Amino acid sequence: MSAIKELREYFEEIMRLNYIQAALGWDQEVNMQNYKSLEGRSKQVSLIEKLIHKRLTSEKVGNLIKKAEKLSNLNEIESAMLREITREYNLATKLPEELVVEIAETSILAAKDWREARSKSDFSIFQEMLEKSVELQKERARLYGTHPDIYSTLIDLYEPGATYDWIANVFNPIKPKLIDFVKKLNASSDKPDDSILKKSYDPDKQFELSFEIIKKLNFNLGYGRQDRSTHPFTSSLASLDTRITTRTTEDYLNECIFGTIHECGHALYEMGIREELYDTILCEGTSMGIHESQSRMWENFVGRSKEFWIYWYPTFQKYFPENLKDYPMEDLYKAINIVQPSYIRVNADEVTYGLHIILRFELERDLIDGKIQVKELPELWNSKFEDLLGITPPNYAQGVLQDIHWSMGAIGYFPTYFLGNLYGAQIYNDALKKHPSLPEEYKKGEFSTLLDYLRENIHQYGKIYRASDLIKKVTGEDLNPDYFLKYIENKFYPIYGI
Ligand code: MG
Repeated sequence: MSAIKELREYFEEIMRLNYIQAALGWDQEVNMQNYKSLEGRSKQVSLIEKLIHKRLTSEKVGNLIKKAEKLSNLNEIESAMLREITREYNLATKLPEELVVEIAETSILAAKDWREARSKSDFSIFQEMLEKSVELQKERARLYGTHPDIYSTLIDLYEPGATYDWIANVFNPIKPKLIDFVKKLNASSDKPDDSILKKSYDPDKQFELSFEIIKKLNFNLGYGRQDRSTHPFTSSLASLDTRITTRTTEDYLNECIFGTIHECGHALYEMGIREELYDTILCEGTSMGIHESQSRMWENFVGRSKEFWIYWYPTFQKYFPENLKDYPMEDLYKAINIVQPSYIRVNADEVTYGLHIILRFELERDLIDGKIQVKELPELWNSKFEDLLGITPPNYAQGVLQDIHWSMGAIGYFPTYFLGNLYGAQIYNDALKKHPSLPEEYKKGEFSTLLDYLRENIHQYGKIYRASDLIKKVTGEDLNPDYFLKYIENKFYPIYGI
């Protein structure tokens, strides 16, 4: 057997161990509340993790990589496989086991402190563990040494190929434009009223309706399911088993509806990967940014479009007649598209969202570079927030303590969220160019043309192409944020009567 085929087979077992870990994680999030059971679960998870690490760093892998590198007849998939396997192997073998264990243990303790700090809105409870967590991430990045600057090394873990400079060059010109755009919208005398979304909506009915929506969006129930959890997420438990979760908030309709469409977008990506890649290292989304482009596209470009609501509104009225029977569709469309500075990133509208990310991106960079200290974060967060969004968080829970990412050691992750919006706009623009009738189809409840386009151009490839190559292959150019800026102008000026 050739070295590449041997590698492929060897990694199939690693992928299966990953799926087992995902199954344990899914069950934990969806079904488990008991603290004592969680203890047992966390031991199971770390055992699987150890097995994966051991297999990944074995001498056999190193030898097979060396042999495979000498093969001259690799096809496109095999080359991509070798690229990804080499990457995983290089990363895994650079860290001593003690550091791996210390990072894992710290993230559990830090997350615990973060939860307590957030619930009491007291940063000092979290400060010490965050300091430790930041130092460990710096140490880890130094050992990886993928890029000359350590923040880029961390970014690269989530968005392979991306660097700090590249992202800064994308974000910096957008920043003042977004700030101006938000001001302009908010100066309008014709602002949407979103109080309708904050009436009481039966959570069970919301869930039922969200299930109807994902069916219509071609979420395949033959190999997927939808459940409830505290934090919505998407997880694949096998190549043909992708699950999403939803949360409902009785007095905020957006949470369940758009959260569900968002996760459905992630799931459609995973469900569309071609069979040839099943159980291989290439059987997942190519980067966090491209993954997020898929979820955001369905959530915002489709789910928050007027045509989508022309089709769905009668159903919503049937589900919630007490609130919506006599409420005009046009006003609801405006309500779900209200743009206003708010404190919490996950609830932000599609315009201000980018500013929430730019804030985190700039703070992370300074933190990693040592330009600022952890203890300065809360105040810097607030003053930066005021500069970008014109409001100051009333407390740390709604400011620096709102996200779990830093406690988990996920530094360099945030920028991929905004990259997702930008990739999404560029890809959606291409889809519309090739299929101008898409919006007309949404009015009739037809969503398969867009899905077919995405499957053909994005989903089927899994991890074969890096994000930068994929966007060029699909749209003919590098990432270009102008598509996003044009999209928000075309959409929001009319909503705000400008
Ligand atoms: Mg997402």
